[in-house]
Amino acid sequence: MVYDETMPDVTPDGSAYTCVSCRAADSERKQKLQVQKITGRSEMMSFAMTKCSPHRFILFAIFFPFLLWPSVAQSQPDDDKENSRVRWAIALHGGAGSLPRPMDAEQEQLYRAALTAALRSGKDVLVGGGTAVDAVTATVVELENCPLFNAGKGAVFNHAGQHELDASIMDGATLETGAVAIVKQIKNPIVAARLVMEKTPHVLVAGDHLRDFAAAHEYEIVEQSYFYTKRRFLKLQTKLRAKGLPVLDKPGYEHRTSAVEPESSVPLSGDSGTVGCVALDVRGRLAAATSTGGLNGKMPGRIGDSPICGAGNYANSQVAVGGTGKGEEFIRHTIAAKVAWLMESRDLGVHEAVNYCLHKVLKKGDGGLIAVDSNGNLAMHSTTSSLPRGAADSTGRFEVGIWIDEP
Ligand code: ASP
Repeated sequence: MVYDETMPDVTPDGSAYTCVSCRAADSERKQKLQVQKITGRSEMMSFAMTKCSPHRFILFAIFFPFLLWPSVAQSQPDDDKENSRVRWAIALHGGAGSLPRPMDAEQEQLYRAALTAALRSGKDVLVGGGTAVDAVTATVVELENCPLFNAGKGAVFNHAGQHELDASIMDGATLETGAVAIVKQIKNPIVAARLVMEKTPHVLVAGDHLRDFAAAHEYEIVEQSYFYTKRRFLKLQTKLRAKGLPVLDKPGYEHRTSAVEPESSVPLSGDSGTVGCVALDVRGRLAAATSTGGLNGKMPGRIGDSPICGAGNYANSQVAVGGTGKGEEFIRHTIAAKVAWLMESRDLGVHEAVNYCLHKVLKKGDGGLIAVDSNGNLAMHSTTSSLPRGAADSTGRFEVGIWIDEP
């Protein structure tokens, strides 16, 4: 299903778009040039009227409109180009291959509504003239707070029955990046990753010290039970059974009964469901953010591709990329950085580069990628049957999808 929205090009007070004023200045300049051209022709006309013989003047008057025609004709395509130029763009995903098909219509609707809400939060930042970094942060926070996805609330369990979360963020304009791994008590790992990017000289911080680091910066600290969802726990039990490991009858932490949700309110989900977002802002800056609970039943201490710069997340001045799927494969092949490298060195477009990585580097079923280039072209592809996703841009595009074969 596709959601359409008509989005204003400018905020009602018109204040936020510095670039719009640049555009206005530009179009004013074009108009002036146009006026100058026409004025030049008016001068020719008056010269013809005063200096030419009546016979020559009649000939001149017949051909004069043809002199004006190119100015009128040329202005049309320029304006069309200007109107269709993508000034900002955003794409998000909720994890490759995480959903079973067929899916209950009501549950499918829940996913589409959650994707729509997250997309809207990132879009609102960009419409308001905010940065790509702010837009990807806002979107991923929204997805982390939603129990449907394997990030933040709703994260999968490791095989000890605990949650260990990974996240990273990258600012393509500066190549600044920050990441956190094995997060146990920070409500929104993506804000902790941003903290690493902005407040430390490091790029990746892991382990228990993160809790104090985030608390010192007044970020919300939660108990492990905050991340609990009944469906994820059932998924862990299934996984442990399949692996021949002892099946846990309760999570590996103190689990208060109040945190238990009724099963009916927790929709179906698979083993994965990482979230990510890429964005281009009105100043042409790109950013990428990815957050995950990792893989269901993973070994405690295992770190996936999501917090590894260039593997599950990457952004530079040309493209921002987010990955989802088998983390070890994404790390081995430095997939997110490879998309950027293919675009830079082989001159591939964003769709070609993403598809090359999915089909020629990774194996079928390994996962999916989202990417946005500096012209606002959005690519969202996967070799899995599902890739919950959303895309919006300044031309009015606003759509969400779940299945890879839906338009
Ligand atoms: N890539 C993530 C990881 O391996 C999992 C996922 O995308 O679903 O941790």
